Amino acid sequence: MAKVLDEQSRKAVADTIRYYRDLGIYDLYRCEVPEGMTFGTTIEREELAVITDLPTPLVAAPEPAVDPAQLAAILADKPASLRVIREDLGDCTRCKLSQQRTNIVFGVGDPHARIMFVGEGPGADEDAQGEPFVGRAGQLLNNMINAMGIRREDVYIGNVVKCRPPQNRTPERDECDVCGPFLMRQISVVRPEIIVALGATAAKFLLGAVDSMANLRGHIYDFHPILPHTAPERDPEFSTKLVVTYHPAYLLRDPRQKKETWLDLQMVMKYLGMSLPKRNPEA
Ligand code: SF4
Repeated sequence: MAKVLDEQSRKAVADTIRYYRDLGIYDLYRCEVPEGMTFGTTIEREELAVITDLPTPLVAAPEPAVDPAQLAAILADKPASLRVIREDLGDCTRCKLSQQRTNIVFGVGDPHARIMFVGEGPGADEDAQGEPFVGRAGQLLNNMINAMGIRREDVYIGNVVKCRPPQNRTPERDECDVCGPFLMRQISVVRPEIIVALGATAAKFLLGAVDSMANLRGHIYDFHPILPHTAPERDPEFSTKLVVTYHPAYLLRDPRQKKETWLDLQMVMKYLGMSLPKRNPEA
């Protein structure tokens, strides 16, 4: 026998379902509570439809069609589209990383960049300034970019998670899964010709692969951003390339890998048809 939920529980269920819909998860299933079990509360399908505006009976939502006119407008005004994503993020509390952050670190750079660098998450300097890669690792990233014959302002830089993990720990899977769709939307707006994943966390999140850096490096991957159903930037046609290299913070700890990193960046430059400097710079 189904119970009617009180006002507070109804709101909690509705908020939870909207949260999943924001993430692009539309298919929700109910578990029937067996006779005699006392935990939890069941809810009638019709009631669920009323409080969430979901169709009843619950069925998989059809793929919303991409509106060509809206998509064209988005592609024409990338700065405005990035602002929309930032507004959608708001004063985000979608994951526990919100609890200790000072600033959300959204992303920075040229919205029309050919190259996008993606790290794992902000550190202390980034958290304080609200901009990615501004500390020592950021200075090294700038050197790497300059070695390619371009400037930091010419590329776009972002992270898998936008709030600093405590003690600079690696972002956890659930944090990446919640924050990552916003990165995917940024990629879909900037539409870089190639993405450089900095470090294992970014590489594994973007490629959905669990492997060592040694195996992940050295390849040019096809990359197709996975976007929430609600993302206006959703373009089923868009795909780009991706390479994996070491995170600058790792290079600060093990400078011997700079040479390998330079090989990765040369691979990027070759792919883009950029001329290579005559000698290896000290990145
Ligand atoms: S890391 Fe991302 S999802 Fe988590 S609170 Fe920050 S902005 Fe929100």
